[in-house]
Amino acid sequence: MCASHLEADIWFLLAVALAAEPSDRCTYHHSVWSTEEGRALPAPPTDKPRSALEPHEVGPLGCTPCEQDQREVALSNGLTLTLCRRIAEPVRRALEGALREGAQLETVQGYRPVLSRGPIDEAGRRTAFSRHGYGIALDVNREHNGLYDDCVAWSPSCRLLQGGRWQPDEDPLSLHTEHPMVQALREVGMQWGGSIAGKQKDFMHFSPDGY
Ligand SMILES: [Zn+2]
Repeated sequence: MCASHLEADIWFLLAVALAAEPSDRCTYHHSVWSTEEGRALPAPPTDKPRSALEPHEVGPLGCTPCEQDQREVALSNGLTLTLCRRIAEPVRRALEGALREGAQLETVQGYRPVLSRGPIDEAGRRTAFSRHGYGIALDVNREHNGLYDDCVAWSPSCRLLQGGRWQPDEDPLSLHTEHPMVQALREVGMQWGGSIAGKQKDFMHFSPDGY
Protein backbone atom coordinates (compact mmCIF):
# COMPACT_ATOMS: atom_id res chain seq x y z
CA MET A 1 0.00 0.00 0.00
CA CYS A 2 1.43 3.38 -0.94
CA ALA A 3 1.97 6.09 1.67
CA SER A 4 -0.85 8.32 0.47
CA HIS A 5 -3.40 5.47 0.72
CA LEU A 6 -2.22 4.68 4.21
CA GLU A 7 -2.52 8.34 5.16
CA ALA A 8 -6.03 8.52 3.71
CA ASP A 9 -7.04 5.43 5.68
CA ILE A 10 -5.68 6.91 8.90
CA TRP A 11 -7.59 10.14 8.34
CA PHE A 12 -10.76 8.19 7.59
CA LEU A 13 -10.44 6.16 10.82
CA LEU A 14 -9.71 9.32 12.80
CA ALA A 15 -12.80 11.00 11.35
CA VAL A 16 -14.95 8.01 12.32
CA ALA A 17 -13.52 8.02 15.84
CA LEU A 18 -14.13 11.75 16.28
CA ALA A 19 -17.67 11.52 14.91
CA ALA A 20 -18.52 8.76 17.41
CA GLU A 21 -17.22 10.78 20.35
CA PRO A 22 -18.34 12.62 22.49
CA SER A 23 -22.04 12.22 21.90
CA ASP A 24 -22.85 8.63 22.70
CA ARG A 25 -20.58 7.47 25.57
CA CYS A 26 -20.09 8.62 29.13
CA THR A 27 -17.04 7.52 31.09
CA TYR A 28 -15.88 8.82 34.44
CA HIS A 29 -14.01 7.82 37.59
CA HIS A 30 -15.58 9.04 40.82
CA SER A 31 -15.55 8.44 44.54
CA VAL A 32 -18.34 8.32 47.10
CA TRP A 33 -18.38 10.00 50.50
CA SER A 34 -19.01 7.47 53.27
CA THR A 35 -20.65 9.07 56.28
CA GLU A 36 -19.77 5.96 58.31
CA GLU A 37 -16.06 6.02 57.50
CA GLY A 38 -15.73 9.81 57.22
CA ARG A 39 -13.85 9.60 53.94
CA ALA A 40 -14.35 9.28 50.20
CA LEU A 41 -14.17 5.72 48.85
CA PRO A 42 -13.30 4.92 45.22
CA ALA A 43 -16.26 3.68 43.17
CA PRO A 44 -16.17 1.37 40.13
CA PRO A 45 -15.51 3.27 36.88
CA THR A 46 -18.58 4.34 34.91
CA ASP A 47 -18.77 3.61 31.18
CA LYS A 48 -22.19 3.65 29.55
CA PRO A 49 -24.20 5.17 26.73
CA ARG A 50 -25.08 8.78 27.31
CA SER A 51 -28.74 7.79 26.92
CA ALA A 52 -28.41 5.80 30.18
CA LEU A 53 -27.47 8.83 32.32
CA GLU A 54 -29.52 9.06 35.50
CA PRO A 55 -31.06 12.33 36.76
CA HIS A 56 -28.29 12.86 39.37
CA GLU A 57 -25.71 12.67 36.55
CA VAL A 58 -27.11 15.66 34.66
CA GLY A 59 -26.35 18.99 36.30
CA PRO A 60 -26.93 22.68 35.61
CA LEU A 61 -26.10 23.91 32.08
CA GLY A 62 -26.42 20.31 30.87
CA CYS A 63 -23.00 19.52 32.33
CA THR A 64 -22.32 15.97 33.53
CA PRO A 65 -19.52 14.08 35.31
CA CYS A 66 -18.71 12.44 31.94
CA GLU A 67 -15.08 13.01 31.00
CA GLN A 68 -16.30 13.58 27.43
CA ASP A 69 -17.94 16.82 28.67
CA GLN A 70 -14.83 18.11 30.47
CA ARG A 71 -12.07 20.28 29.03
CA GLU A 72 -8.61 21.07 30.35
CA VAL A 73 -7.99 24.81 30.71
CA ALA A 74 -4.33 25.88 30.56
CA LEU A 75 -3.50 29.27 32.07
CA SER A 76 -0.61 31.57 31.18
CA ASN A 77 0.85 31.20 34.69
CA GLY A 78 1.31 27.45 34.13
CA LEU A 79 -1.66 26.22 36.19
CA THR A 80 -4.33 24.01 34.68
CA LEU A 81 -7.85 23.10 35.69
CA THR A 82 -10.64 20.97 34.25
CA LEU A 83 -14.12 22.41 33.64
CA CYS A 84 -17.33 21.57 31.79
CA ARG A 85 -16.97 22.49 28.12
CA ARG A 86 -19.87 24.96 28.44
CA ILE A 87 -18.01 27.24 30.85
CA ALA A 88 -14.35 26.43 30.19
CA GLU A 89 -13.61 29.26 27.75
CA PRO A 90 -15.42 32.12 29.57
CA VAL A 91 -13.80 31.10 32.87
CA ARG A 92 -10.38 30.92 31.21
CA ARG A 93 -10.85 34.46 29.89
CA ALA A 94 -11.96 35.70 33.32
CA LEU A 95 -8.98 34.15 35.11
CA GLU A 96 -6.56 35.58 32.53
CA GLY A 97 -8.15 39.01 32.93
CA ALA A 98 -7.72 38.87 36.71
CA LEU A 99 -4.09 37.74 36.29
CA ARG A 100 -3.44 40.71 33.98
CA GLU A 101 -4.85 43.00 36.69
CA GLY A 102 -2.28 41.64 39.11
CA ALA A 103 -4.34 39.03 40.97
CA GLN A 104 -2.24 36.13 42.26
CA LEU A 105 -3.38 32.60 41.53
CA GLU A 106 -1.55 30.03 43.64
CA THR A 107 -3.91 27.05 43.25
CA VAL A 108 -7.10 26.41 41.29
CA GLN A 109 -9.25 23.29 40.96
CA GLY A 110 -12.45 22.68 39.00
CA TYR A 111 -13.84 19.22 38.08
CA ARG A 112 -13.86 16.78 41.02
CA PRO A 113 -16.36 13.94 40.69
CA VAL A 114 -17.29 12.94 44.24
CA LEU A 115 -20.76 11.95 45.42
CA SER A 116 -20.58 14.18 48.48
CA ARG A 117 -24.06 15.69 48.74
CA GLY A 118 -27.71 14.74 48.88
CA PRO A 119 -29.56 11.90 50.60
CA ILE A 120 -27.63 9.13 52.36
CA ASP A 121 -28.32 5.58 51.13
CA GLU A 122 -28.69 2.46 53.30
CA ALA A 123 -24.91 1.89 53.17
CA GLY A 124 -24.33 5.36 54.67
CA ARG A 125 -23.10 6.83 51.38
CA ARG A 126 -23.94 10.15 49.74
CA THR A 127 -25.87 10.01 46.48
CA ALA A 128 -25.45 13.40 44.74
CA PHE A 129 -22.61 15.32 43.12
CA SER A 130 -21.58 18.80 44.20
CA ARG A 131 -21.20 21.47 41.49
CA HIS A 132 -17.56 20.30 41.15
CA GLY A 133 -18.82 16.88 40.02
CA TYR A 134 -20.24 18.48 36.87
CA GLY A 135 -17.18 20.68 36.29
CA ILE A 136 -19.17 23.88 36.86
CA ALA A 137 -17.39 25.02 40.06
CA LEU A 138 -13.84 26.08 40.83
CA ASP A 139 -11.86 26.61 44.03
CA VAL A 140 -9.34 29.47 44.01
CA ASN A 141 -6.36 29.76 46.38
CA ARG A 142 -7.83 27.33 48.91
CA GLU A 143 -5.02 27.80 51.46
CA HIS A 144 -6.08 31.45 51.78
CA ASN A 145 -9.85 31.10 51.42
CA GLY A 146 -11.29 28.48 53.74
CA LEU A 147 -14.73 26.90 53.87
CA TYR A 148 -16.43 27.95 57.11
CA ASP A 149 -19.48 26.65 58.98
CA ASP A 150 -21.59 28.36 61.69
CA CYS A 151 -21.17 31.50 59.60
CA VAL A 152 -24.51 33.10 58.66
CA ALA A 153 -22.60 36.40 58.78
CA TRP A 154 -18.81 36.60 58.89
CA SER A 155 -17.29 36.79 62.39
CA PRO A 156 -14.13 35.41 64.02
CA SER A 157 -16.29 32.69 65.62
CA CYS A 158 -17.04 31.12 62.21
CA ARG A 159 -15.68 27.57 62.20
CA LEU A 160 -13.01 26.64 59.62
CA LEU A 161 -13.82 23.27 57.97
CA GLN A 162 -11.45 23.12 54.98
CA GLY A 163 -8.60 25.13 53.48
CA GLY A 164 -6.68 27.98 55.05
CA ARG A 165 -7.78 31.01 57.06
CA TRP A 166 -9.58 33.83 55.25
CA GLN A 167 -7.80 37.11 56.06
CA PRO A 168 -8.84 39.65 53.41
CA ASP A 169 -7.35 42.63 55.30
CA GLU A 170 -3.85 41.09 55.46
CA ASP A 171 -3.58 38.48 52.74
CA PRO A 172 -3.70 39.53 49.05
CA LEU A 173 -4.66 35.96 48.12
CA SER A 174 -7.78 36.09 50.30
CA LEU A 175 -10.76 37.04 48.12
CA HIS A 176 -13.38 39.74 48.76
CA THR A 177 -16.19 41.33 46.73
CA GLU A 178 -13.92 44.02 45.22
CA HIS A 179 -11.11 41.54 44.40
CA PRO A 180 -10.32 41.37 40.64
CA MET A 181 -10.78 37.59 40.69
CA VAL A 182 -14.30 37.85 42.15
CA GLN A 183 -15.26 40.66 39.78
CA ALA A 184 -13.88 38.97 36.65
CA LEU A 185 -15.60 35.65 37.43
CA ARG A 186 -18.88 37.38 38.26
CA GLU A 187 -18.79 39.03 34.82
CA VAL A 188 -18.92 35.57 33.21
CA GLY A 189 -21.74 34.37 35.45
CA MET A 190 -19.81 32.72 38.27
CA GLN A 191 -21.01 33.69 41.75
CA TRP A 192 -18.69 33.73 44.74
CA GLY A 193 -19.22 31.33 47.65
CA GLY A 194 -18.06 34.02 50.09
CA SER A 195 -21.30 35.95 49.75
CA ILE A 196 -23.90 33.17 49.69
CA ALA A 197 -26.80 33.03 52.14
CA GLY A 198 -26.88 30.28 54.75
CA LYS A 199 -24.70 28.83 57.49
CA GLN A 200 -21.65 28.25 55.34
CA LYS A 201 -19.25 30.65 53.62
CA ASP A 202 -17.03 28.99 51.01
CA PHE A 203 -14.47 31.70 50.28
CA MET A 204 -12.50 29.63 47.72
CA HIS A 205 -15.54 28.60 45.70
CA PHE A 206 -17.25 29.85 42.51
CA SER A 207 -20.20 28.36 40.61
CA PRO A 208 -23.20 29.65 38.61
CA ASP A 209 -25.22 30.10 41.84
CA GLY A 210 -22.36 30.33 44.37
CA TYR A 211 -23.23 26.95 46.00
ZN1 LIG B 1 -15.61 24.41 45.73
